[in-house]
Amino acid sequence: SSPFEQVELQAPDPILGVSEAFKASKEPNKLNLGVGAYRTEELKPYVLDVVRKAEKKIFEAKENKEYLPIEGLDAFRKATVDLLLGPSHPAIKEARVAALQSLSGTGSLRVGAGFISRFLKGRTVYISNPTWGNHRNIFGDEGVKWEYYRYYDPETVGLDFKGMMEDISAAPDGSIILLHGCAHNPTGIDPNPEQWSQIADLCIKKKHIPFFDVAYQGFATGSLDADAAAPRLFVDKGLEVMVSQSYSKNLGLYGERVGAMVMIVGSKDVAERVLSQLKRIARAMYSNPPTYGARIAAEIVNDADMFGEWKTEMAGMAGRINRVRGELRAALESKYPGKDWSFVTSQIGMFSFTGLSPAQVDNMTKKWHIYMTKDGRISLAGLNSAKVGYLADAMVDSFK
Ligand code: PMP
Repeated sequence: SSPFEQVELQAPDPILGVSEAFKASKEPNKLNLGVGAYRTEELKPYVLDVVRKAEKKIFEAKENKEYLPIEGLDAFRKATVDLLLGPSHPAIKEARVAALQSLSGTGSLRVGAGFISRFLKGRTVYISNPTWGNHRNIFGDEGVKWEYYRYYDPETVGLDFKGMMEDISAAPDGSIILLHGCAHNPTGIDPNPEQWSQIADLCIKKKHIPFFDVAYQGFATGSLDADAAAPRLFVDKGLEVMVSQSYSKNLGLYGERVGAMVMIVGSKDVAERVLSQLKRIARAMYSNPPTYGARIAAEIVNDADMFGEWKTEMAGMAGRINRVRGELRAALESKYPGKDWSFVTSQIGMFSFTGLSPAQVDNMTKKWHIYMTKDGRISLAGLNSAKVGYLADAMVDSFK
C-alpha cells in the first residue's frame, strides 16, 4: 500500500481554523473575533492609504523582478533597523547590527530558531505561558527545546510578574528568553517600564539571551517609538538581543510577508559573521525574500512625508481599537455590574484575554455565533461600535 495511506489528518490551526469556521457559518449575526487582523468600523479589511501611495510610486518606477540578495533589500534593512532602534542609535553607528529581511514575523522567527539550533545548541528557549500558539511549532520544528515561564495570572487577569521572574531566574544560565516586544499575544498584558528594567537586569545577571518578537510595533500605543521601548532598553543596558520584526499588522501587509530577523551584538566583526550565517540558513529555507512588500515598507519609512502619513494612519487604527475597548467595558459594566471589567481597558493591542473558559467559549460560538479562540482571547480589531452591545450580551450570558 502507499506510504501516504499512513498520513494522519492534522487538526486545523487553532487560530486560522476559527476563520474557516466563521466563513462556513450562515448566521446573519456572526462575528469573527478570532484572527488578529485589523478591520475598519465597517468590519472590512483595510489597506492603508500610504501603502496605496507607495504602490503607485513603485508601479511607476517600473523596477525589475530580479532576485534580491539573500539578506534582502538594503533600503528595507536600513528602514527596519531604524524603526526598531531609532535612526541615531549608537549600535547602528557602530555597525553591530545584523539584519536579514525575512518572511514576516513567522519566517524571521524560524530563521532565528535555525540560528539557535546551530549556534546556541543545547540551550532552551523559554516562552511565556500562554503565548502565540505558533511559537511552539516554530521552535519545535527546528528541534529547539522550549519551556514555559509563568506569565498570566487568572486571579487578577493580569501579569504574574513574581512567577515570571522566578522562572527566568530558575532557567539555566545562558537560556534564551522569548519576550513580546509590546502588546502581548494573546493576553494584551505587558510588563510596565520598571518591570521591563528588572527583567533586563535579570537577563544580564543570568547571561540569558533575550529574543524579542516584535509583531505589533505601533499597535499598542499608536506610537512606533513607545512600542519599541522594551527592546531599546535591553540594548541600551548592553545586552545582545535577537529580534524578529513583522509588518503584517502595523503596515497591514499581512499577505506580502514583510519582516526581518535582527541581531544586535557586541561588535561589527561579530555582526558580519552572524549575518553570514543567517544568510546561510535563509538560503536553504527559501533562498531570498520577496521584493514587493519590502519596497513598500522601505518607500514609506525612508520618505519623511509618507512616514508621517503612516504614523497618522497607525494612530487611527490603534485609536479605533482603544475606542471599542472603552465601549465594550462600559457595556459590560452596565449589563453585569457585579464583576470587575477593568481588564478590558488595561490590556493593550489588538487582543483582550477575557478569562472565558473553553466551555464558555463554546457557548459564545454555538449560541451567539461569535468566533474566537478556545483560550478566551478576542480580537478587538474585529469589533465595531454597532456590535459592542451584542458581544457584551454574549459575554455576560457566557460568564453567568
Ligand atoms: N508573533 C506574534 C506574537 C504574532 O501575534 C504574530 C501574528 N499573529 C506573529 C508573530 C507573526 O505574524 P506574521 O508572520 O504575519 O508576521
